[in-house]
Amino acid sequence: MSVARLASISPDADVSCVQRCCGSVPRSHPVPASEPSSGLLRVSAVVKPVVRRTLHLSFLSSPGDMWKGRSMSNSGNAKRLAKKIRDNTSLTLAASFRLARQLNVRPEPPTVDAPDPRQRRLEAHLAHVLAASFQDHQLNGSLLGVRKAVPNGQRLDLLLEPAMAEAVIYELLPRFDRSYGGIRGVPGLRVTGDGRRWTLHAIGLGKVTAARTDHGPIRLPIPRDDEVALWGRLPDDLSRDERHEIEWWVDAKSVDAPDIRDLLMSRLLRRPELVNKAAEPHGFANCYNHHAGDLVIEWCCGETVEALCAALLAHGFIDGVPRADAVELVSRNSALLGDATIILNRHTSCLYGDNAQSIAEHIKKSYES
Ligand SMILES: [Zn+2]
Repeated sequence: MSVARLASISPDADVSCVQRCCGSVPRSHPVPASEPSSGLLRVSAVVKPVVRRTLHLSFLSSPGDMWKGRSMSNSGNAKRLAKKIRDNTSLTLAASFRLARQLNVRPEPPTVDAPDPRQRRLEAHLAHVLAASFQDHQLNGSLLGVRKAVPNGQRLDLLLEPAMAEAVIYELLPRFDRSYGGIRGVPGLRVTGDGRRWTLHAIGLGKVTAARTDHGPIRLPIPRDDEVALWGRLPDDLSRDERHEIEWWVDAKSVDAPDIRDLLMSRLLRRPELVNKAAEPHGFANCYNHHAGDLVIEWCCGETVEALCAALLAHGFIDGVPRADAVELVSRNSALLGDATIILNRHTSCLYGDNAQSIAEHIKKSYES
């Protein structure tokens, strides 16, 4: 799978989203030679306005008490969620209420945030790399290969889709790709473990553990012929290319508020049950990045954009993000969260039709080979 299998949005993609999201901009990251695409979706690069934002974390101290023991099955709860959305975004009360009424998951208290900004930065990078790696190539509706995420003190424990678990580890571990001329995976990431639970850690950042949901073994990858594995180095023994890649992630010109990017992408990784709804109908969806500062989720059938937005907002996804940047509903089929840090696009008609099942089978076979 390519880190940058870029393509163009399908003709039936929402027009306003295409206009807003998909202009042309030089990538700040080296683009590798494109590999054969599965041909499911194609996207192009983005123009992202640079606007300075400040992260306000005061709202994070509100653990969502208003939701304890309640469901959205009555209009009173919908009104409460609508008010929360209105108070924490620039949406009107009418738009907030429209979203709230579409919520079809339990409004649980927000998942705990990573307490340390360095841990958030690591988790965000993991989510970013997994989105770029898997794109439209998932199994069993696991958008980033993750089924469950359990906050555990300073770290995060990930439970992976069994059939994708080895691919997840492979995509995350850093290696120098000679044909690409750069680093793939998460620079600085190192691995320890017993073959069933791996601890992925990066010096100066944090750690994440990874295991299969069925607790089966996960083999460490064997580098491809044109790759040099870097994950076997000592944690503080970073290659020059890894250092450059880390600088790219931290100081990317396209990212005007790295703290918000880290927070939202970390939250995405911590909410797989919600995020995976985009991939539920077909078993796969599409995810990708335009640059270091965004992550796009694109799908067709099933959950509406507004329903997924409502679920994310009800679970604290934009808590602490400045109101003006929190949510923009570009249309009924396109939403920008955190000033386009997370972009949700839903096509107005099914992209796959009768071919959906055979595409899922094709993806499944590719993981078995
Ligand atoms: Zn569909």
